[in-house]
Amino acid sequence: MIVVGGGVIGLGIAWRAAGAGVHVVVVDPQPGRGSSWAAAGMLAPVTEVHYGEVPLLRLNIASLQRYGAFVGDLEAASDVAVGYRRCGTLLVARDRDDDAALAETLAFQQRLGLSVTRLRAREVQELEPALVPSVRSGILIEGDHQVDNRSVVAALTAACLKGGVVFEKHSAVRVEADQGAVSGVRLSDGRVVPAGQVVIAAGARSSEIAGAADLPVRPVKGQLLHLRTRDGRAPVTRNVRGLDVYMVPRPDGRLVVGATVEEQGFDATVTAGAVHDLLRAAYELVPGISEMELVEIAVGHRPGTPDNAPLLGPTSIQGLIAATGHYRNGISLLPVTVDAIVGLLTTGEVVDEIIPFSPLRFSPVEQPL
Ligand SMILES: Cc1cc2nc3c(=O)[nH]c(=O)nc-3n(C[C@H](O)[C@H](O)[C@H](O)COP(=O)(O)OP(=O)(O)OC[C@H]3O[C@@H](n4cnc5c(N)ncnc54)[C@H](O)[C@@H]3O)c2cc1C
Repeated sequence: MIVVGGGVIGLGIAWRAAGAGVHVVVVDPQPGRGSSWAAAGMLAPVTEVHYGEVPLLRLNIASLQRYGAFVGDLEAASDVAVGYRRCGTLLVARDRDDDAALAETLAFQQRLGLSVTRLRAREVQELEPALVPSVRSGILIEGDHQVDNRSVVAALTAACLKGGVVFEKHSAVRVEADQGAVSGVRLSDGRVVPAGQVVIAAGARSSEIAGAADLPVRPVKGQLLHLRTRDGRAPVTRNVRGLDVYMVPRPDGRLVVGATVEEQGFDATVTAGAVHDLLRAAYELVPGISEMELVEIAVGHRPGTPDNAPLLGPTSIQGLIAATGHYRNGISLLPVTVDAIVGLLTTGEVVDEIIPFSPLRFSPVEQPL
């Protein structure tokens, strides 16, 4: 079996499939340095819930329920700690307009039966004293956590190597098929690696691979900052989110501040405007960030789809399986994606929870309107 793409999704599938006795080859010229490296590592679907994305929220919640067990297995298999922190997330209103927006979000979250708590200004301040004193209100989402996504990449790579996964550090240029069934993958050096099952997990580049069922994935650029304190203590203790910015504190004192959402193709330029906007928005919530060192500006390309939800499951080509298009949620959706796709590879069964995310939902309409 071949997995095209070694981000968290491809590596996770490769690790678990190898553990189930499957011979796995991961094809990727630069494993682990795509969107999975750039991400913030928030596991925060309730905080981010959007109207019209309730099936996606359900899938995210299913994934979060498995996170503890998944990272427990991963840390044991790899000997790498992944920084899974059940820290919760605080959504903050800075002014009257934010407060009105938060009230709407809260009402929506409560209609969905989600566990959220409205906080007054004083309560917000008590939880996170570094927040600007003028904060008006907040929502505490105790079930939205974080993981260190770069450590997850390192752990998955180590677990794959220990599990006997073979790495081909080339690009996949074409999925080869014979009479409608997958027969292998052609690499950029011209070789064809034979396989009867191929998983496309090439993130934002999943639509570039010839013969891979024209998956509708596009890059959505994100710029994100890493700040650091001199004393190794981040100014906030949990994920903090305003309407224009989020901050994710790491145990080593880093603060991840993100992120822009830009339709710029694969442009990877760091722009002054993005850095300015992120820093200003973060400063308006936590003025103390002005004393922090700016240590890194990361740029990544989220694998976006027409409905912001992933493409999971069989395609129109026999043996070709999609595990891509995770957009803003690929780190959160890791356990549920891996379970579903490895189950499909080993038993041929499509579990109910991924049926709404079939890649076939975007097949061209054949009837005239
Ligand atoms: C700024 C930013 C912040 C984010 N924050 C969060 C967050 O807080 N929480 C969250 O859940 N998600 C977040 N995301 C989204 C998350 O990063 C992605 O959804 C997730 O990483 C997708 O994983 P992936 O394995 O599909 O893709 P990637 O990590 O991009 O991996 C794809 C791999 O495919 C390889 N590849 C590409 N083309 C080919 C080819 N032709 N042949 C072989 N290999 C190929 C690439 O080299 C790459 O290694 C964020 C994204 C960004 C950009």
